[in-house]
Amino acid sequence: PEEADVEALQHADVADLLPRPTAESDKYRRGVVGVVAGSARYPGAAVLAVAGALRGGAGAVRYVGPAADKVLAHFPETLVHPGPPDKAGRVQSWVIGPGIGDESDALAEVLAADVPVLVDADGLRFLTPRQVRERTAETLLTPHAGEAAALLGRGRDEVEAARMESVRELAAQYAATVLLKGSTTLVAGADGPVRVNPTGTSWLATAGSGDVLSGVTGSLLAAGLTARDAGSVGAYLHGLAARRAAGPGGAPILASEVADHLGAAWRNVT
Ligand code: AMP
Ligand code: MG
Repeated sequence: PEEADVEALQHADVADLLPRPTAESDKYRRGVVGVVAGSARYPGAAVLAVAGALRGGAGAVRYVGPAADKVLAHFPETLVHPGPPDKAGRVQSWVIGPGIGDESDALAEVLAADVPVLVDADGLRFLTPRQVRERTAETLLTPHAGEAAALLGRGRDEVEAARMESVRELAAQYAATVLLKGSTTLVAGADGPVRVNPTGTSWLATAGSGDVLSGVTGSLLAAGLTARDAGSVGAYLHGLAARRAAGPGGAPILASEVADHLGAAWRNVT
């Protein structure tokens, strides 16, 4: 591709885009993010997605799903809802998918809402291009290479060998914004240049780190960033947090530690 088709966000761009509270802010105006994540089998995904969302700049996080007790045990700040998403009260964005397994009933409901939706992980398995194309608000898909390959109906190796083309193709097919995770994270919209995230680290190749990214990015959507900006700022902060967690020489990190370092990443940007 031409050089103009690719761009990297700079520190200053990210600093400008980070949502900051003002004197007029209250928690609702800062944005409420709804998280549909976790299952009996994967309750930890719910905790990690909520951890990311709480650190992402929205004013409140609503959790909908079967892991409410575990989420509350880690984060008493979370608002939990036993019912389906449409009974959860107002949200400004939804995150759906991390660790939901086959529990996909909420997907259609969330996609019908007129607010931005981030679909990750298991949520991507039940998604059709038509469902996304018919949405009235923005959609952000966040596959890793394996999930992108499944969406495109080809092999993981083929996606890895053509990451730039794959992310563009998915964005066109779904008329959505697509964040392709991996050694370099790419964010593509239906048109415009592809954003390449400069802050990643291979220490992020660890279980649960993608769930944290979903939460942060969904929180940025709730705060009013476009899907393109939320995806690229989310990946930027997530990468910086991981580098902070890994330390100067580098060391193995836990996904929960990435979430713990998101505050440091914010302070690093400004
Ligand atoms: P997931 O596969 O959903 O758990 O997401 C993994 C997270 O770690 C994503 O944010 C990826 O971009 C990141 N990641 C995985 N492998 C690497 C790597 N080799 N280098 C940099 N980031 C990576
Ligand atoms: Mg994942």
